[in-house]
Amino acid sequence: MGRFLVMLTAAAAVVACSVATVMVRRRIKRRRKWRKVVGILRDLEESCETPLGRLRQMVDAIAVEMQAGLVSEGGSKLKMLLTFVDDLPNGSERGTYYALHLGGSYFRMIRVYLTGQRSSLEVQDVERHSIPTSLLNSTSEVLFDFLASSLQGFIEKEGDTSNLSQFVKRELAFTFSFPVKQTSISSGVLIKWTKGFAISEMAGEDIAECLQGALNRRGLDIHVAALVNDTVGALSFGHYHDPDTIAAVVFGTGSNACYLERTDAIIKCQNPRTTSGSMVVNMEWGNFWSSRLPRTRYDVELDAESLNSNDMGFEKMIGGMYLGDIVRRVILRMSQESDVFGPISSILLTPFVLRTNSVSAMHEDDTPELQEVARILKDLGVSEVPMKVRKLVMKICDVVTRRAARLAAAGVAGILKKVGRDGSGGGRRRSDKQMMRRTVVAVEGGLYSNYKMFREYMDEALREILGEDVAQHVVIKAMEDGSSIGSALLLASSHSVRTIPPV
Ligand code: ADP
Ligand code: MG
Repeated sequence: MGRFLVMLTAAAAVVACSVATVMVRRRIKRRRKWRKVVGILRDLEESCETPLGRLRQMVDAIAVEMQAGLVSEGGSKLKMLLTFVDDLPNGSERGTYYALHLGGSYFRMIRVYLTGQRSSLEVQDVERHSIPTSLLNSTSEVLFDFLASSLQGFIEKEGDTSNLSQFVKRELAFTFSFPVKQTSISSGVLIKWTKGFAISEMAGEDIAECLQGALNRRGLDIHVAALVNDTVGALSFGHYHDPDTIAAVVFGTGSNACYLERTDAIIKCQNPRTTSGSMVVNMEWGNFWSSRLPRTRYDVELDAESLNSNDMGFEKMIGGMYLGDIVRRVILRMSQESDVFGPISSILLTPFVLRTNSVSAMHEDDTPELQEVARILKDLGVSEVPMKVRKLVMKICDVVTRRAARLAAAGVAGILKKVGRDGSGGGRRRSDKQMMRRTVVAVEGGLYSNYKMFREYMDEALREILGEDVAQHVVIKAMEDGSSIGSALLLASSHSVRTIPPV
């Protein structure tokens, strides 16, 4: 009996030992895999670093590229497009005007009624719809017929609420969020599609004519009287409410900026013939590029797999369309190189399946168990992840968004530098007092308005770059639907169409 007990105890000890060994091995393996994932995160953090010195280099590079783009056509990756807009709305405009806005994700239609007094601006009607994905690679005919039929529906609904006499022809501003070479304030040709659009036969077509043709075919008596880049619409809206507004930036599906430039600085335009001595320049800053941009392997892969590779490099780091996909790529790599996310989810392999609104929802998840992170991961086919993995995902969102916001701030500071409002004394020569003039930058877009952390990081970086003394004179003003409303205001203020000879 005694011997039997000894043997039993020995056997139990052997079993316990082997169980312990297996557990220790598993733990070591798990730790190794966790270390691997942490290593991937560290790499990401390092390659996304945007210390102040680097941001300052970006600011300088942007100002230099702006200058180069103003000197000659094709002189820079920044197209610095002429808009032929010299007079911005000031509040004295009157009448009823329409705008149709084709953005990257949404199209909007609005009607505004102006009585000549800024305070009584009346946005009588506004509709916003998602752009059906089938349109992105359809034909020009399908796209413009879709827009015309939507506008028809919008107008049919208004009944007699529009303050318009039946004898007055409706005037429409077409707000267009893609690069256009304007030939006048009401005409211009598409340079290229961006943000996932690919309607091949349209490059080189006059955009306003395309819309006018579609409206005519439907028998709609509307005149497409202005073709306005969305940033220019935003600047008009900003300026209408606050004459210190000198630039506008859009952070939506994509990103772009415009600003007021002195006509004598627009060297490539021989005969700008503006009365105000300045003109709004559409930078098309999404295409900005510098070898100093903090680029990661995920950016390289995203670009290579995109419809417009080697193009719009800046937009692909800061645009709402792309942030979600960068985060997805990081999570995918982690799940391929370790099992902390469980078996690899086939959903995670799908480009753009993780949207930036989900990134902000995860990033800003303040529930104690990070339930929002868990829910979104579950939608991506990753379930049952422990708390530390949820925190890891939150950190990825933070790194990607922080980089985007800080680069965005460098872009804004680049514009301020170019126009001599960054306090550095560079650019235009002005007295100290003038340099410290109040400067307003109008900002709009779904990324900016819906993503608090993006806004906060951008604000913080702008203060870092400018320093408190200068930053206190710079106001970032958020707007909603500013591009569409501003385009209608611009149409109202520049009713007489001026055509300027192309450069
Ligand atoms: P558009 O680009 O069509 O003019 P918006 O300016 O409304 O439209 O921007 C839409 C984009 O904003 C979306 O594609 C998305 O990338 C981003 N966005 C929208 N909501 C959020 C959100 N809650 N958090 C982060 N980004 C968002
Ligand atoms: Mg937009």
